[in-house]
Amino acid sequence: MGLKCKPVIDYTLCNGCMACVSLCPYKAFFSDVDAHAKIDYSKCKMCGVCIILCPYGAIDCQWVPTSSQCQSGLKQSS
Ligand code: SF4
Ligand code: SF4
Repeated sequence: MGLKCKPVIDYTLCNGCMACVSLCPYKAFFSDVDAHAKIDYSKCKMCGVCIILCPYGAIDCQWVPTSSQCQSGLKQSS
């Protein structure tokens, strides 16, 4: 069982620059109605790019087991 890095935004550090919205290769970030950056975890591939590139160091890594990602129904029964 491996671990993957789930990005979590620390809003005490985030200044709302929205760089992450354009930087995420999977378009998982969006600007919410409250003008905060949010992560759509159904799109996030846990690539870690945003954690490295956030100019304010506002995105932390939360380690999660990869097996928990494999449970959600990607297969459709036929
Ligand atoms: S790049 Fe970092 S500081 Fe800018 S909106 Fe995203 S999380 Fe916040
Ligand atoms: S970890 Fe990768 S896919 Fe997930 S939000 Fe950050 S840049 Fe996007």
